[in-house]
Formats: sequence, C-alpha cells, structure tokens
Amino acid sequence: MKKVKAFGVIVMILILLAGAAAAYYVLLPARTFDVPVISLEGVEAQAATGGFHTRLLREPDWLADRIPIAKESPIVSANYADVGKVAKKQLTLDVPADADSCTFELIRPFDSVNPVVAEGDLAEWQDFEFTRNGDYSLTVSLHYDEDETYDAADFNYQFNFTIDVQPVVRFSTDRAVQGDIIRVTADMGFETDAPTIESELGLCAFIPMGENCYEAYVPIGYNQAASAKDIIVHTGAKDVTGHVVITPAGFEVEYFDMPQETIDSTMNVPGASQDYKEKLGVLAEERYIVWEKLWDGRFIQPVEGTITSSFGLYRYINGSTTASRHQGIDIAAAEGTPVPASNRGQVVFADFVIMTGNTVVIEHGAGLKTIYMHLSEIDCAEGDMVEQGDIIGLVGSTGYSTGPHLHFEVRIGDQSVSPWPLIDGTSDIYGEEKEGN
Ligand SMILES: [Zn+2]
Repeated sequence: MKKVKAFGVIVMILILLAGAAAAYYVLLPARTFDVPVISLEGVEAQAATGGFHTRLLREPDWLADRIPIAKESPIVSANYADVGKVAKKQLTLDVPADADSCTFELIRPFDSVNPVVAEGDLAEWQDFEFTRNGDYSLTVSLHYDEDETYDAADFNYQFNFTIDVQPVVRFSTDRAVQGDIIRVTADMGFETDAPTIESELGLCAFIPMGENCYEAYVPIGYNQAASAKDIIVHTGAKDVTGHVVITPAGFEVEYFDMPQETIDSTMNVPGASQDYKEKLGVLAEERYIVWEKLWDGRFIQPVEGTITSSFGLYRYINGSTTASRHQGIDIAAAEGTPVPASNRGQVVFADFVIMTGNTVVIEHGAGLKTIYMHLSEIDCAEGDMVEQGDIIGLVGSTGYSTGPHLHFEVRIGDQSVSPWPLIDGTSDIYGEEKEGN
C-alpha cells in the first residue's frame, strides 16, 4: 500500500507540474508587445492588420526545446496610409525611439524604369530632399532586436503621397510709406530658372539667396504719389502679383538762401546736369547691379552729427516758388571727418561731379546703393570691395554745398529711399514677409 500511495503522490506532482507548464504556455502569448505606430507629416500608419501580430514574449531557455513557441519574427503586411498632397521638399517621419533600426525605401510607383528613388536609414531620410513633383510610395521598416524578454520583430508600414511643390512668392508688406523698401522673396521650388521681377515703382532685381531662393528690393521713392501699385513676379510656371498701397510720409519744408557763387560754380556751370547724368544718372541702369547680396547686417549712419536737411525735404531756394527735393540726409560734421562705408559692397563710382562734388557710390547687391557726396577727399576707387566701416573718404564741402557736411543717400535704380529704416533696423529688408497671390 505504501508503494501505491507513493505512486499516487508522484502522479499528483506530475499532474500539477504539467498543469503549471500548460498554464505558463497558455499565459505566455497573452503578454504582448504594443505594435508601434509611426507617422509621416502627422499621418499615422498602422502595422498590424489582424490585431494580434506582435512581438512575442521570449520563452525561457530551458523551455526552448520543449514548448515550440514561434521563433520566427512576425512579418506583418503593411496598411496603406494616404498622406495626400504635400507642398514640401522634406517630410517628417516620426518613429518610436525604442526601435533598434529603421530603414526606408522610396519609390515612384508609376516609374517603370527607375522606380526606386532613395533608400537608407532614418538619418538618411532626414537628409533626403525631393527634387521633383509626383506620386510616391514610402515603405518604412522598424526592426527590434531579440533581447532577454522578447523575440526579434519587424514591422512594415507604407505611406502613399503626392509631392506638389510650387514656387512661393512673398512680399514684405502691402502697405508702404514713401521712402520705404519692400522686400520680395521667391522660393522657386523645383523650378530651375531664376524668377524675374518688374514694377512701375522702379528698377528691382532678384539675387540668389541659398538653394533656389531669391530676394529683391522694391523702392518706394520719396516722390511716389499716394496710390496703389503692382509688383509682378514671373516664376515661369505662373505670375504672382503683389499689390502695395502707398501712403504719404509727411516731409519737411525748408526755405533756404544759397549764395549765388555756389550756384554759379555748380548748377550754372555749362554741362553740369549732363555731367551729373553721365556720372551718377547712369548708375540707375541694370548694368550697375551686382547680382549677389554683398551687404551683411544693419547699415550704419556713416558719421554722427546734426541732421541739417532731412530726407525728402521740400526746399525753396532763394525765394523760388518751386521746391526742389532733398533725396538724402545731410549730416553736419567737421571738415576731414572720416566717412566709413555704411555696409559691405562694391564701389561703383568714386570721382568728382560738378553738382555733388567728390562722390562715392557703393552697390550692396540687387541694385541697393548708398551714396556719399561733397567729400573733401576720396579714399577708394571704382571696383573696390569695401567692408562696413572701411573709410571711403573725408567729410568736405565740395559741389553744391555751403559748409562741411555729408550728404548720405540710399537709392535703388533711380529711386531715392529713406536711410533711416536701414539704420534703425526697421526696414523690411531685414524682416519677415507674407505670401502673395
Ligand atoms: Zn544733401
């Protein structure tokens, strides 16, 4: 009987062990790994189609030969996530940080010759930039390595989308005051030709600003009538028009007595206006534009001193009933005061002009020029590249002037604009812009 009892106990123990093993086996697959969710441009894609494809809990080594739980990684067929139309060159892919690797393959499904556009890892995707519009299909694979808890697993996803990048043109403002500058930028997308710009407001030009981007400066001259004007940008694919409403700046009025000898030695010299036209007037032409951005950072007021004549001033000289206009600012300063370049640029004129005396003109790119008049001495030459602060001459009183001062002026084409926004940093050329239509 003892033997039978002992046998019974052993059988009971075996039954209990078998039960425990069975329970372990049954419970094992219930402990699952959450299927990772990934997204492209915020659109999520799900990997699992049946709801139970998952990363299996790994069985302990001692059970490995006895209980055949799936050792193969579950390969799950992808759902298709439709991202739609995207107007971007680079797309943001969000994947869980705990994945051991992430690879992608980008194809053009309707390109039977060269369907694969790019493939690689997550870092390579982050660097990838589209270069043409069209339909695309992106396959993403997440891989999890085997560790002490789980089997290895792969999850595959697919996104379908259409890249539709068009040129984007932006205008800094649609309202401007006489003397302002409007900044226009063009991101040309996949267009390879440079854009062009035209406006009855004056000469303006696009210069390259990084990859397929351009910018231009449109002058609102001091004598532009309060009115509405158009700026037209040709991008190849389409024309974009910016509208600008111009409001008056409210310029000062000055009644001024000019010594007759000064008038006789400048204005009244035969050929004086022809001399001005041939030397300074021609600088408004397109051939004097430097087609790159030379200026860098905020423009500086070249010399300190009392502003004796303001920008845009109406000047009635010697009792005349017609006003002349002052196109720059006059800064009183001692004869011989060094005059630095307001910003980086190229000297496009450095010579004597009957009307304006010793004169220097610096082109800063895209037709934006600063002008320095009445110098006692010129310390630069045509063609020189100058940095901001480089001394280009000395304050004097040459030309149509009654005392030592610097006439400082900013021009784009033949339009004079206010130097102040460039000096105080409020000019649109430094700032953000909004989209045109
Ligand atoms: Zn002046």
